Amino acid sequence: MTGTTQDDYTERYARRVRGMTTSEIRALFAVASRPEVVSLAGGSPYIAALPLDAVGDMMGRLASELGTTSLQYGIGQGTIELRERICEVMSLSGIDASNGASPDDVVVTVGGQQGIDLVARLFLDPGDVVLAEGPTYVGALGVFQAAQAQVRHVAMDADGLIPAALEEAVVAAAGRAKFLYTIPTYQNPAGVTLTDARRDEILDICERHGLLVVEDDPYGMLGFEGEAPRPLRARRREGIIYVSTFSKTFAPGLRVGWILAPHAVREKLVMASEANILCPSAFAQGAVTQYLSTMPWREQIKSYREIYRERRDALLEGLRDLMPAGTTWTRPKGGLFVWATLPEGLDSKAMMPRAIAARVAYVPGTGFYADGTGTGHIRLNFSFPPPERIREGVRRLAGVMEQELAM
Ligand code: PMP
Repeated sequence: MTGTTQDDYTERYARRVRGMTTSEIRALFAVASRPEVVSLAGGSPYIAALPLDAVGDMMGRLASELGTTSLQYGIGQGTIELRERICEVMSLSGIDASNGASPDDVVVTVGGQQGIDLVARLFLDPGDVVLAEGPTYVGALGVFQAAQAQVRHVAMDADGLIPAALEEAVVAAAGRAKFLYTIPTYQNPAGVTLTDARRDEILDICERHGLLVVEDDPYGMLGFEGEAPRPLRARRREGIIYVSTFSKTFAPGLRVGWILAPHAVREKLVMASEANILCPSAFAQGAVTQYLSTMPWREQIKSYREIYRERRDALLEGLRDLMPAGTTWTRPKGGLFVWATLPEGLDSKAMMPRAIAARVAYVPGTGFYADGTGTGHIRLNFSFPPPERIREGVRRLAGVMEQELAM
């Protein structure tokens, strides 16, 4: 049989598909998942810390006791039981009835990823501008690219998004910016958190320019140095679409997330979701509802915080002890990632095959920008590998960097 190449279809693809490119990095990731490679490239939560036997028993009961509903179609918005639980979860970060949050305005999604996609479907026409932190979440870039929108990055520093840079970007977009997509807390990939004072400043700028805010908050509950500043949505009730997920606090494999939308937007979101997936998985929603009603999920989050703090410390100590001069990095107070800036002259993408050969993997910074910048940066994950593997990974990475610098 002769192989059919993708080229045979090129002329048939929709315009939005033409910008989709396969990444050479993805091929390297297949190698990175080999056991001998220390992968600091992932973003997976440490699921082994869950009480897996108890979760398994809970799932079994779900099918046998609630089979007729948990294995059936459901409504597009998601079950009321889960939406009520979601409101309880959000109330822990200050999003509650006092600022207008209600189960009626929650839409259950297939992970935060579908949440971002639905927002794009609702608001983006080809050519529209999205403002986003530089760097930003790679999965959101994929959504905005598929919507044929143009992403303009707004600079961050150790205190998160820079208000003056946002103001400048909004003005430069001259009315074409549809929303600000932001991950204010324990940002992926930068690991920085927008300070309390800047949160209000950022909101004021958006309000003044009539710019919608899409707040993506998967990591807010995973802080390990005190509490995170309150989410943007806890400060204002209008003009903000809040997206979150159970992927990092419970299980990404269940693919359950949610959107809390302004009331006026919620109906359109449900219609867009129905056109997309009919309804979220009843079984997965049942599993999350059961988990939140019958299992010690708050304690579980506490234990994640402790595990991740220890791993973050291992990574930061390794970097401090081993990185070549000229390397800098962020010091996250929560979340899963450290963002490192390489010494002058090193190219994170070009270095990747040599890192893999030295049995360590990271994500080159270029993936987190829409415009090809980021070669001087790498993202390092600390949630998945245990501390001693992290240290070994940093040792290998430092060796590769020293060699590159000597070349
Ligand atoms: N937003 C951000 C910032 C993320 O880091 C992720 C996952 N890595 C998501 C959204 C989507 O996660 P999920 O679809 O698993 O909920």
